[in-house]
Amino acid sequence: MTGELEGKIAFITGASRGIGLATARELTEAGARVAIIARDKGKADEAAKDVSGSRCFACDVTDVDSVTEVVGAVQAEMGPIDILVNNAGDTRDQLLVRMTDEDWTYALDVNLTGTFNTIRAVARGMMRQRSGVIINVSSVVGLVGNAGQANYAAAKAGLVGLTKSVAKELAGRGIRANLVVPGFIDTQMTADLAGEARKHLAERILMGRLGEPEDVAPVIRFLASPGAGYITGQVIVVDGGMVM
Ligand code: NAD
Repeated sequence: MTGELEGKIAFITGASRGIGLATARELTEAGARVAIIARDKGKADEAAKDVSGSRCFACDVTDVDSVTEVVGAVQAEMGPIDILVNNAGDTRDQLLVRMTDEDWTYALDVNLTGTFNTIRAVARGMMRQRSGVIINVSSVVGLVGNAGQANYAAAKAGLVGLTKSVAKELAGRGIRANLVVPGFIDTQMTADLAGEARKHLAERILMGRLGEPEDVAPVIRFLASPGAGYITGQVIVVDGGMVM
């Protein structure tokens, strides 16, 4: 299945580790050239060593000016963006009554507004090209909720409406938009979970194990590929059968 993204430019946020880095590797293997977007340029540079042909750019997706600037820089240095993967995300867990305004706003800003910021900045070029693929990354928590994650769940649920609206608005310009919804994936985001809790969680997953970034990245690769050319506005759950 190599080469289906030959000549394509992909812009992946939060790509210095975890699911984002696995996606950068996967899209590179498919022939794309990847712009690794990360808050920390040092970490991005380190990650890029591993991903041939990629370039690194520093950007905080919550900062509109930084997003506009980096989209311009990628277009100038690499060419028009064909694939946008909105993978950057973060949690600020707290029980509802203890959740501060700052906790709430942080989760909404990173996970939902950050995704909107990059879509708005990249969509203009895709509309001119009359082609493009947008893949947003949500969470099963956005579909079923989770105690202690009201802010994150609300933001990730918001991505369902955002993705479907983008799909409806941009289909006429040849642009597809889909939402990938990972279950419990073994990355830095879930590293704090203790052994016993991990075991209990795995028991609730039909496949009997936590997911790996490499379980999610090939799905993103497929959605980016011409083989998924008739798929748009969809919510694709990748959770080993945890939520049905
Ligand atoms: P991770 O923490 O390893 O990766 C998240 C990346 O996003 C990091 O590189 C981080 O620096 C970046 N990021 C955070 N805030 C940013 C900002 N403001 N601007 C730019 N980059 C920013 O975790 P991961 O598991 O690889 O997460 C990737 C995506 O998958 C996230 O959107 C996350 O919400 C989602 N997700 C993860 C899981 C899981 O179990 N790990 C489950 C469902 C969904």
